[in-house]
Amino acid sequence: MARLILFGPPGAGKGTQAARLAELLGVPHISTGDIFRGAIAAQTPVGVKAQAYLDEGKLVPDSVVIDLVRERFSQPDTHPGWILDGFPRTVPQAHALDALLSEIHQGFNRVINLEVPAEFLVQRMLGRGRKDDSEDVIRRRLQVYQEETSPLIDFYRDRSQLTDIDGSVPVDEVTASIQSVLSEDEDAA
Ligand code: AMP
Repeated sequence: MARLILFGPPGAGKGTQAARLAELLGVPHISTGDIFRGAIAAQTPVGVKAQAYLDEGKLVPDSVVIDLVRERFSQPDTHPGWILDGFPRTVPQAHALDALLSEIHQGFNRVINLEVPAEFLVQRMLGRGRKDDSEDVIRRRLQVYQEETSPLIDFYRDRSQLTDIDGSVPVDEVTASIQSVLSEDEDAA
């Protein structure tokens, strides 16, 4: 049963690793950023609300994100497991996730903290060519990460739920490291 939270600064490779692990483990990859980009493309009410935040590199308000995650977890494909990418991003979101998982009688295996030196992050993001990857928006997203998201590292570390993984090595090696952490958890279970 794989229930995994991928954590790290923007550009750390969460999306790449989440997609690979989802494929390998046969569970859905839940990326709040992808859900917002899809909603914006389709101009749904959530998309219309979220657009300015994404364009400016700011966080979408917690209540909007939490409703969206709650809705996603009501889909039956999440029953066998899931990989969360980009959520939670604030302490209130982490509390909301705890509440949601306890309601649906689920837990999670681990928070994987992908560590990548700051100087690599900007280069990686500039290479992706996403709409919110212009240099000033990238800098804003890194600042938002420092201020609002990085406190979650201690939040989960204090609960012994966080494992650091070096995200600066080649993609395959990162995936292998995450898999070995997961199998240690299975052995311990
Ligand atoms: P990502 O694809 O995870 O880098 O997310 C892209 C953008 O979507 C972020 O810069 C935010 O504007 C928004 N977003 C994604 N996930 C969240 C979240 N958990 N909380 C608030 N905003 C989010």
